[in-house]
Amino acid sequence: MFHTSIIELSERALRTNLEFLRDRIGPKTIFSSVVKGNAYGHGINNFIPKAQECGVDHFSVFSAGEALAVLEARTEPCEIMIMGYIDEAELEWAVENEIAFYVFDLERLHATNRAAAHVGKKAKVHLELETGMNRTGLPEDQLSDVADLILNNGNTISVDGVCTHFAGAESTANYWRIQKQLKNYRRMTGKLKRLGIKTFAKHIASSAATFAYPKTIQDMVRVGIAQYGYWPSQETLMHYFLESGIEDVEDYVDPLKRVIRWKSRVMSVKTVKPGEYIGYGISFLTTRSTHIATIPIGYWHGFARSLSNLGSVLVRGQRVPVIGTVNMNMILVDTTDIGQVQTGDEVVIIGKQGEQEISLGTFSDLGQYLNYEVLVRLPAEIPRTWVA
Ligand SMILES: *Cc1c(COP(=O)(O)O)cnc(C)c1O
Repeated sequence: MFHTSIIELSERALRTNLEFLRDRIGPKTIFSSVVKGNAYGHGINNFIPKAQECGVDHFSVFSAGEALAVLEARTEPCEIMIMGYIDEAELEWAVENEIAFYVFDLERLHATNRAAAHVGKKAKVHLELETGMNRTGLPEDQLSDVADLILNNGNTISVDGVCTHFAGAESTANYWRIQKQLKNYRRMTGKLKRLGIKTFAKHIASSAATFAYPKTIQDMVRVGIAQYGYWPSQETLMHYFLESGIEDVEDYVDPLKRVIRWKSRVMSVKTVKPGEYIGYGISFLTTRSTHIATIPIGYWHGFARSLSNLGSVLVRGQRVPVIGTVNMNMILVDTTDIGQVQTGDEVVIIGKQGEQEISLGTFSDLGQYLNYEVLVRLPAEIPRTWVA
């Protein structure tokens, strides 16, 4: 009731993914579940309690607003780490609530110091190092100032971690750049130790690095996309595939299972005679007597307009093409070849129906979107519900 589509989240898929990832990283490494972007579209409110049930106790977000959402959604105590934006006022809030955050420049380190002194609690800080991505991060020539500031304010700052982020571990095109970043990271952490910052968790791996560069699995990993059941890229999957020594592609069973299944219903059906344009404009002309079904989802719901005359959905276990342009709230599909379709029939936009599956990959390749982008474009307003 009161929605035109629904996103089902599979508990079994999530458990499978988390177990697979735990196997991969070993028992000692902390698993930080990355839940920025509304838990990659899965819904932060829905995702956090279930992930906690599955044993996750560390979450990473981009901003203080997202940290607040985790705080409100959690059902048990957990660590929360802000990897991105936080403003001055939020710094005090974070310290007060024992939320960890990245520090990537001296200005923020000073501000952290002030915030912690004001609150009267230690700030939980992760020093982000500039190793070559050239986005955010402390450059090497500032490390001695950083160490001085921290050591001379022993009661305000606790260095919980020292980290960096790779500039594209999902593509071998970046191989040398990543190697260089690793080298810089090692040298800079060594320097911090010599400067007197002795104990901290090292963390550098995202999903892609966890698979493509196993030695980047250190004290903690920050895994986003893989826990939701997606490989960061085809290359990362191939890397794993080759590493597993599987000889026959047919024998390969994907260890990652998609958590999301997005479904709707047929809203209306009709038959249109040959030689008619369908929907807005003149982008689709019928060449035969055509059965058309209307589905009440459109670009507002994250079904990209670029999938006009290109995307497909599943109805009655079969794939049917989108015809005409994607509207704000509707798409039209051609069901002529699949027999009787009725109002109310289930429609799967992403995920499995019977033997067929619309993967995010096909969805995103056609529309030229990244996996990540398709997921986070799913509006928060679509209800999410857990299924077994
Ligand atoms: C998003 C993000 C991650 C997780 O990346 P995935 O590819 O989804 O695993 C890790 N670290 C940082 C800093 C990030 O921004």
